[in-house]
Amino acid sequence: MLGAVGLNQISPRIWREPLELAPNRSYWARSQPPQNPPLTEDISVDVAILGGGFTGLSAAYYIRTVSPHKRVALLEAKGCGNGASGRNGAMVLTMTEDRYMDFSSNPAIDKQIYDLTAANIRTLAKLSASTGIDCELETNGALQVLNTPEDVQAAKAYVQQARSLGMPVEFWEKQRLTQEIGTEVYEAAFFDPNGGHVHPMKLVHVFKTAAQAARAEVYENTTVAHIEEGREHLLHTTGGRIIRAKSLVLATNAFTARLGFFRNSIVPVHEYVAVTQPFSDQQLAEIGWRKRVPFNDTRTEVFYLGLTEDNRIHIGGGNPSYFFNNGAGNNNDSAAASHFAQLQRELLRIYPRLSGVKFEAAWDGVVDWSLNESPSVGCTGKYNNIFYGLGYSGHGVNLTSVFGRIIADLEAGRVEPWQQYPFLNASLDYIPNEPFRWMGLQAGLAWYRLRES
Ligand SMILES: Cc1cc2nc3c(=O)[nH]c(=O)nc-3n(C[C@H](O)[C@H](O)[C@H](O)COP(=O)(O)OP(=O)(O)OC[C@H]3O[C@@H](n4cnc5c(N)ncnc54)[C@H](O)[C@@H]3O)c2cc1C
Repeated sequence: MLGAVGLNQISPRIWREPLELAPNRSYWARSQPPQNPPLTEDISVDVAILGGGFTGLSAAYYIRTVSPHKRVALLEAKGCGNGASGRNGAMVLTMTEDRYMDFSSNPAIDKQIYDLTAANIRTLAKLSASTGIDCELETNGALQVLNTPEDVQAAKAYVQQARSLGMPVEFWEKQRLTQEIGTEVYEAAFFDPNGGHVHPMKLVHVFKTAAQAARAEVYENTTVAHIEEGREHLLHTTGGRIIRAKSLVLATNAFTARLGFFRNSIVPVHEYVAVTQPFSDQQLAEIGWRKRVPFNDTRTEVFYLGLTEDNRIHIGGGNPSYFFNNGAGNNNDSAAASHFAQLQRELLRIYPRLSGVKFEAAWDGVVDWSLNESPSVGCTGKYNNIFYGLGYSGHGVNLTSVFGRIIADLEAGRVEPWQQYPFLNASLDYIPNEPFRWMGLQAGLAWYRLRES
């Protein structure tokens, strides 16, 4: 026992975590906006933001909006959208992962989170319109399709309570669901009219454009290798540049531990996504997916499906992977091929008429998974000048920019409006270091596979 505790403590010094950021091979990446030049000189700023995904870009936009006198520089290791923001399952969801279709002990707060996140989806539409960039946001709602009779009972109870609180969610019987999505494999569904679907990389473009229009500086291909924390932080890039910053925003999601923060709170879990060729309107009508509403199922190793604007079906999820010491993995290896084959099998199970359809692109992305699936946004560091948003646990397309807005307020010292929310400075459950992390995750993932096979 003592040996294990000792090994857990010294483990980060034995296995140093590499900073590996795999290239984005997703279908969405074909729409990546042109990249800005890297940082080529030392600079001094009020706020440095690390990471050019939804969290970082939205924080840049909101910080410049809330504090227009501040110099804000965002540093992105690759191109904006290289992380989860440019690789995901495109579902735009209300709530947080830990409270999705699940009330906490404080349903009144859950209702407030619902309203906050539903309102943010309307903000996304406005922001897209104001930048002139069409991010293909469709707000036809989102479905959670139910796999078992137990799920059906739970969903019915949830919908009843939610409606009594004024949430406009619905329970759909099997017949209605079959009519809407053209498959009979599910028992019934939970429908949230406030959800939707987006082209994730085009949404990255919306935020990047908004941030730059607000005069935030965005440097791409600029990796921060090391942070010297202080009243004024010193950030060292791999290219030898130094950034002095009074405030720091960590928007590095699943890669945050590599900078020495949240090492025991977040696990990078790899998920897999694939997309078909486009279908004609007639083919889509034959499939029977009528109102294009995206859906995810209720398995722990969840599957999620949506339709692109040009009628491609994308499917993601299934068995995730964890690589030793928060490794990056490789979506070209044979292990990845077995994940894509699993996605193909699931697609045919749902829509047998798609037999023979091939994937045009398949990729992986890293989810910043917290043990209790709860996200956290807040302020940390010896001098209370490090701000962060993470732990989205696969539920961040919408929530990230809610957190971007909160980060801007916190950075400006405006804590009050957010104090009632449970995700403010939420402490995340402890995740041990290697090798216990790897062993625990392999055991956990094997258990889920067994249970759901
Ligand atoms: C496969 C997959 C499917 C998903 N599906 C959905 C879904 O359907 N709906 C939903 O709501 N959510 C989904 N999510 C979750 C959602 O995509 C994320 O929560 C969200 O994109 C996180 O955004 P972010 O800006 O915090 O992080 P990221 O987009 O990961 O951005 C972090 C950025 O930091 C950069 N970076 C890292 N280290 C450094 C460094 N040292 N220096 C400089 N830059 C650095 C990275 O290159 C990266 O661009 C999914 C995630 C994945 C991976």
